[in-house]
Amino acid sequence: PRRAADAWLQRDGPLTRELLRAPGAFGLGQVPARLAPEATARLICGYCSTGCALTAHLQGGEAVNLSPDPDYPVNLGMACPKGWEALAPLDAPDRATRPLVRNAAGVLEPVPWPVALRTFVERFRAVEARHGPEAMAFLSTGQIPTEEMVALGTLAKFGMGMIHGDGNTRQCMATAAVAYKEAFGFDAPPYTYADFEASDVLVFVGSNPCIAHPILWERVCRNPHSPEIVVVDPRKTETAMAATAHYAIQPKSDLAFFYGVAQVLVERGWIDRDYVEHHTAGYAAFAEFLGDYAPERVASQCGVGASEIERLAETIHAGERVSFWWTMGVNQSHEAVRVAQALINTALMTGNMGRPGTGANSITGQCNAMGSRLFSNTTNLLGGHDFANPAHREKVAGVLGIDAALIPDTASDSYDQILAGVREGRIKGLWIVATNSAHSWIHQNELRRTLAQLDCLVVQDLYATTETAQLADVFLPAAGWGEKEGTFINSERRIGRVRKVKRAPGQALADFHIFSLVAKAWGCDLFPTWKAPEDVFTVLKELTRGQPCDITGIRDYRALEEAGGIQWPLREGETLASHERRLFEDGAYAHPDGRARFCFEAPRPPEEAPDADYPLVLLTGRGTSSQWHTETRTGKSAVLRKLAPAGPVFEVHPDDARAAGLRGGDFARLVSRRGEMRARAVVTPNVAAGQVFVPMHDAATNQLTYPAFDPYSRQPSYKYAAIRLEPASDPSSKP
Ligand code: SF4
Repeated sequence: PRRAADAWLQRDGPLTRELLRAPGAFGLGQVPARLAPEATARLICGYCSTGCALTAHLQGGEAVNLSPDPDYPVNLGMACPKGWEALAPLDAPDRATRPLVRNAAGVLEPVPWPVALRTFVERFRAVEARHGPEAMAFLSTGQIPTEEMVALGTLAKFGMGMIHGDGNTRQCMATAAVAYKEAFGFDAPPYTYADFEASDVLVFVGSNPCIAHPILWERVCRNPHSPEIVVVDPRKTETAMAATAHYAIQPKSDLAFFYGVAQVLVERGWIDRDYVEHHTAGYAAFAEFLGDYAPERVASQCGVGASEIERLAETIHAGERVSFWWTMGVNQSHEAVRVAQALINTALMTGNMGRPGTGANSITGQCNAMGSRLFSNTTNLLGGHDFANPAHREKVAGVLGIDAALIPDTASDSYDQILAGVREGRIKGLWIVATNSAHSWIHQNELRRTLAQLDCLVVQDLYATTETAQLADVFLPAAGWGEKEGTFINSERRIGRVRKVKRAPGQALADFHIFSLVAKAWGCDLFPTWKAPEDVFTVLKELTRGQPCDITGIRDYRALEEAGGIQWPLREGETLASHERRLFEDGAYAHPDGRARFCFEAPRPPEEAPDADYPLVLLTGRGTSSQWHTETRTGKSAVLRKLAPAGPVFEVHPDDARAAGLRGGDFARLVSRRGEMRARAVVTPNVAAGQVFVPMHDAATNQLTYPAFDPYSRQPSYKYAAIRLEPASDPSSKP
């Protein structure tokens, strides 16, 4: 097969024409006939995991405008600024239109597709020949459709023989996945968005939906029950300002805080004994463990009074339908899994599961992080299966029609372990797809030194201007959201369609198309029947058969459209009873005994504590609702840029500003042991004394962050590092 692939790759001229017309194999990049033929087309937004539906208004098959879909059960006619402006990044002047290869002078230069593919394949084969297949790895994303994730995961692992591949979802959702798996027996966020409207107590922990998930906050605002809205967060966030109660705990004291709350619930007998007895395991050990966490013992460490811990327990006890919601403030921690499970424990012990308005609910980050969790073939084998389970390997091999021996019997190294492998010389070839590691990964200076050690870095993205693309040896130009087909899975497990409503520019191709070309170039045409994403959707349905995420009852893409998206599970033979379905209504969890587990562990201090040289704690997070992560896309919209600060800013308490000689609007150097950044001060009591908040969107922010990781989820702890402030000059002022 490799000789045939080599011969195919030698045909530069004809091959380029073949690729760019591509009516057949994965022909999704440039084919006008595949554009949505209607006057309007519905597609799920490509930013966050809320999964709003947008209506694309078409002229000649091409989208000229977007508006929120009034009939979609998720967003009910609403969209945040990013959704309204979602077309703008596609028209950016720096869209990549040609493949690039770094030449002998060290410059990325445009080349024909066959040359780029040839270079990729030759360089990776050289790595494989010299160091074995385990020296090749990939890093993927939660931003591409599920079908593309499946194509990449199967190609890389079963076709090219890679052992290691991970996604940028490691940075946002790995904690929730591990926490659920241990507690429920499967990675299963239990809720539906109607729960925002049905709760009488909502507890948000490390979560700022007002700006990070604005449409979900709109759902909270539609709640007719005058709910208690509780925010647990060190910072007085936009959501905390709108809450009925704000617990401004010390950074990373959340585990002790919620053990204190649970101890009060146990001590006062505010436990749902019936639920605990029939649907859980391990409660007695947990209750005994809590003996060390009475409020008066943990209050000072949490920076609140014992009476405040008791008050939250009273609020939870008084609620009839209590829901717990968490996001990155929990997930990005050195002990993140146990914090998430502390919330799960509280929901279980009070019987707040499986009923409307209840649940221990992780709000996901990226538009298709949930697709990545089930189908990226990284930590989990396709369909939420286990690489280490021989029966699972046989099942997946049977569905794919491949030899089970092609499936590795161990899960991949995680993102940080792959990078450690590069530093240790174990990994030499890295393929990065649709993520900007050289901006978003923790401890940037180390990351950049790490990437420089590779024999070959291939980057596949919409823009060759990202910090990561600039480091590539080979760059492959990709189509973006709105330029290709597939499905996303949102936070509440709803599968919705993504449509092609624009042509990709120049020679950019859908990631799906690129994966098929790489497969052909590598000589591993594993899945010749996968001509279009819906072919893969048919296969992935079958992969879920018998799993908690079983979607064998979804007929096809058209059924998804007609239903307004469908939440998993929907098993073969089942009919869709409701638009809003939650899990565990019968109290049956996915562990073999059907019981949820109480998981707990003593809290540990963060690895880097403030000291005399670096006396302040750095917090990071979302800046505004108009900014998305590294701003690779939102930064391309003039409208969204106007809605965000013009340059890097940081929030600092008036006492700390005074101590550093700073006034509002002054520039300062923020210095950690790893690097520094310059930003403009926003002096505000919304951050506590001793803490500094920096939005994550500037590339320099991760010069400061400290590379600690949760030991179970390997998720980076972006939200705790020691820094100091120093006055700095305005970079735009003349001497
Ligand atoms: Fe898109 Fe999320 Fe905004 Fe909805 S809330 S429009 S999904 S970015």
